[in-house]
Amino acid sequence: MLMSRRNKLSLMALALAVLIIATLPVCAQSPNSNMAPDWCKQLPRPQYKTLERVPSADPWFEVYKVAPGVFAIYEPHQFEEVISFLILGDKRAVLFDTGLGIGDIKRVVTSLTPLPITVMNSHTHNDHVGDNWEFDEIYGMDTDFTRTNAKGSAADAQAELAPGSVCGQLPADFDAKSYATRPFHITHLIHDGDTVDLGGRVLEIISTPGHTPDEICLLDRKNGLLFTGDNFYPGPIWLYRPETDLDAYVQSITRIAALAPKIHLVLPSHNAPIADPSQLPKLLVAIEKVRGEAVEPFAAGNGKVTYTVNGFIFLIAAPK
Ligand SMILES: [Zn+2]
Repeated sequence: MLMSRRNKLSLMALALAVLIIATLPVCAQSPNSNMAPDWCKQLPRPQYKTLERVPSADPWFEVYKVAPGVFAIYEPHQFEEVISFLILGDKRAVLFDTGLGIGDIKRVVTSLTPLPITVMNSHTHNDHVGDNWEFDEIYGMDTDFTRTNAKGSAADAQAELAPGSVCGQLPADFDAKSYATRPFHITHLIHDGDTVDLGGRVLEIISTPGHTPDEICLLDRKNGLLFTGDNFYPGPIWLYRPETDLDAYVQSITRIAALAPKIHLVLPSHNAPIADPSQLPKLLVAIEKVRGEAVEPFAAGNGKVTYTVNGFIFLIAAPK
């Protein structure tokens, strides 16, 4: 299957492969198989060559220093290629997302800093909140979507382990059968425009609903950093789930594209942790073309279509 996150366009092929594998009499590809799926044969992505890699306390993750006081905590062994960020101030740190919950991100984070940690999530899809349960302080958006997801669930987590989803070894102490997003407790509610002072670094919360109702960006205005969550990352952008609101997404991208002249670095939550701010106005043009029906959709299977515009790919629910 060719499905690095968000190159996951062959879902039908995946479904077919699952069927074929399920009907084989002998053991085919388990998640722990050493047979590398195609998506991971294409790693590492070129962006990583320019980054300073630092040791990771848990081999499930790779850690990169992407800006002064900012670490990208990357999960290259699962096709979503999730990236969480540890953002340090003088007095405290924010962990922007906690990943899939397959490895132990707390072990990684506490080896990188002794500072107290506040968790914030780009949004509460399972692949970004997997280790939230391990942390005492969690800031959550004041939405029902967030509150529902904080109760945890198993289905989305289990789907992350479908055949071809894992590259290399799962952690030795990982139990695939019981893998689920564990419930977590939101200790503070946050809203658009709130700021968090880490000591020497202030993060602004920008509500950017669309991908989900609780999607946010974090803006470090002084250092010109914009953490874009799933609003933007290099790869097909997933906008097909029932909680996605395309009109809201366009408004949100309009808002963050306007920030581009003030930003030095965009830090996305999948695939590669750095991107050029010039991508944001281009993204806006691309999604506006899609919404203006100026682009032909291609069937992607499973009730989805893709639109490809100026190098951007959007995966959207097929019109009924
Ligand atoms: Zn998401």
